Amino acid sequence: MNWITKFIKPKIKSLFEKRSSKIEENLWTTCGCKNLIYTEDLNSNQKVCPKCGAHHKLTCRERFETFFDNREYEIIETPLPKDDPLNFQDKKKYTDRLKAARKLTGQDDAVLIAKGKIQDIDIVAGSQDFRFIGGSFGAASGEAFIAGAQHAIENRAPYIFFSCSGGQRMMESSIALMQMSRTALAVNELKKKNIPFVVVLTDPTTGGVTASWAMLGDILIAEPKATIGFAGRRVIQDTVRETLPEEFQTAEYVKDHGGIDLVVERQYLNSTIGTLLNVLLKKSEAQVKQDSNVTVDKSLQTAS
Ligand SMILES: [Zn+2]
Repeated sequence: MNWITKFIKPKIKSLFEKRSSKIEENLWTTCGCKNLIYTEDLNSNQKVCPKCGAHHKLTCRERFETFFDNREYEIIETPLPKDDPLNFQDKKKYTDRLKAARKLTGQDDAVLIAKGKIQDIDIVAGSQDFRFIGGSFGAASGEAFIAGAQHAIENRAPYIFFSCSGGQRMMESSIALMQMSRTALAVNELKKKNIPFVVVLTDPTTGGVTASWAMLGDILIAEPKATIGFAGRRVIQDTVRETLPEEFQTAEYVKDHGGIDLVVERQYLNSTIGTLLNVLLKKSEAQVKQDSNVTVDKSLQTAS
């Protein structure tokens, strides 16, 4: 072995090894059904497993592409508050976690807001990326949620939000918890203005997100088999000391027990929500007309 084989060859070899394993990783995806799925087949099927129907997680942009008419949408800029207000550190610094999440997702925060059309109706949509610190909801997510709601109100456009989150962001402690009441107030403003608010609960929707805006939609829809709950299954089981049914906290179970309205496959979300909005918007228009008639009547009474 000369110096070339000893020093240069291993380097070149490792370069190729890394590259080939990366290619293999990208070519195939393992599904919960234990089948190895060709990633291209999964992607062309809106990331729904062609073998078992499992709905794999989507990034925010993938979500918008699968949801909006003709895959056309425009991202709405949202305010970004100061990072790491509590100077938080666990095993890693929060600022390092943020840096890594931003690099991985290409987003400033877990939430992204966009506008576009579904079934030719102008809407505003929000989505969460689970890869961004478990889709956790902090101050920046709250700002984005509220900016989306304001845009919906100003343009009288329905607000559709796709939840995918483990809950509030623990690195922001009470600041993250405060987002629960802030978002609930924003939803209240939408309701006061008769703007439809529809939540699509995707896998998983748990913790503070379930305990606030994700359960406040006029219509609650879930993707099949999505985990929906507040506390974790084990915590509940240890508290109630009873064996819970296997399907506990699945979308289907929550629907059967009255927690949500519908379970809809990803491919039908655009058409189903479009149909529902048509009904809601007609009602909403009638409500607005009724309200303005009341105002006119009152002004007549004052004049007389
Ligand atoms: Zn599968």
